[in-house]
Amino acid sequence: MTHVRLSDVTRTHGEGAATVHALQHVTLEAGTGELLAVMGPSGSGKSTLLNLAGGLDRPTSGTVHIGEHDLATVRDLAALRRRTVGYVFQDLNLIPSLTAAENVMLPRELDGARPRRARQEAMTALADIGVDHLADRFPDELSGGQRQRVAIARALIGERRLLLADEPTGALDTGAGDDILRILRERADAGATVLLVTHEPRYAAWADRVVFLRDGRIADTTDTTGTPLTSTR
Ligand code: ADP
Ligand code: MG
Repeated sequence: MTHVRLSDVTRTHGEGAATVHALQHVTLEAGTGELLAVMGPSGSGKSTLLNLAGGLDRPTSGTVHIGEHDLATVRDLAALRRRTVGYVFQDLNLIPSLTAAENVMLPRELDGARPRRARQEAMTALADIGVDHLADRFPDELSGGQRQRVAIARALIGERRLLLADEPTGALDTGAGDDILRILRERADAGATVLLVTHEPRYAAWADRVVFLRDGRIADTTDTTGTPLTSTR
């Protein structure tokens, strides 16, 4: 079943001679249970693609669907995003005045979950990713890699069906990066749809498919089963 679908999506910034084509005529779908890696040089439109897929940005033309919802017409986009989309940003935007556990439980509380229940779910998400012992620390008491794991736990809480990860392994050493990929793979196998931006072929190798972007267009799509991966870098 298709879970996220971009149909002939174009995103431009600016006007006239200064127009930047961040994404041009991209059609792409990812199904439930699918882990899709997005690769491509810096500036090729990877983050734009993820932002559009998660409803954080709107296309200049074309349509984006999550499940049966057309994001251009859905009534409460913020609620849909909170319930459905887990997003790991390139820069970790943890809230400094909240502990790790409070950061992770926040999306569930905003969604009306009882604090006790939200806290339990947060502890499970933190444990899944090996940082439950850091639950009561504040972001400035954590290392870069620890903060990244907390941000990932926040993206994973609440069984969200669409996970968008923009270079989630950036600040992590290889072993920790492998842990994150294993978790994303498990979530996909459990029925989530995962879009992963990565520069690393070793991480893209966990994906079912790899899409290569170049200058805002899909330059190539590779089915990873049995096909050796080539990086565009
Ligand atoms: P990537 O994530 O692959 O590095 P991005 O999606 O961030 O690429 O950016 C694609 C292109 O769109 C780049 O040329 C970038 O400079 C441009 N771009 C992205 N966001 C904006 C914006 N808000 N205003 C102007 N240009 C932008
Ligand atoms: Mg980017």
